[in-house]
Amino acid sequence: MASAAPARDPNCVFCDIVERRAPAWILFEDEHTMAFLDIFPFTRGHLLVIPKRHGARLTDIPFEDQMRLIRSLDEICRRVEQRLTPHYNVALNTGANAGQIVFHVHFHVIPRYGKGNPFGAGSRERLDETEARKVVSELSPA
Ligand code: AMP
Ligand code: ZN
Repeated sequence: MASAAPARDPNCVFCDIVERRAPAWILFEDEHTMAFLDIFPFTRGHLLVIPKRHGARLTDIPFEDQMRLIRSLDEICRRVEQRLTPHYNVALNTGANAGQIVFHVHFHVIPRYGKGNPFGAGSRERLDETEARKVVSELSPA
């Protein structure tokens, strides 16, 4: 069955980790997914959850692999909750302008130990109603 064979990219460091060609602090692995510590952690326990199949973004991988990824994310989040802290961010950077630097889809799980809003850098303005209507209409099905 073709979908069982994970696609890989020879220039991708996360594919290298999946194949054990690059080192990683692996936390979890099953047939389709893997979780390992981020090499430049924002906080203690900052980790990444990835599909073994290569794809730059969530929408590049088959739906079944997305579901498997969420299942593993759930497993890892439960571990973080029980063993580190119930406070954490889950992030998925998609595209260079969103901060993506490794183009193999990965969820960040970033445990939080202190107070404060991790997204709180800089000033933020209240959502404008006209703009809100526009965005809702642009993102709604035709
Ligand atoms: P992003 O900006 O969402 O693409 O995040 C990529 C993350 O991968 C960064 O937080 C890096 O610190 C992390 N990273 C890059 N190379 C490795 C590696 N070899 N092992 C573990 N984490 C890595
Ligand atoms: Zn890859």
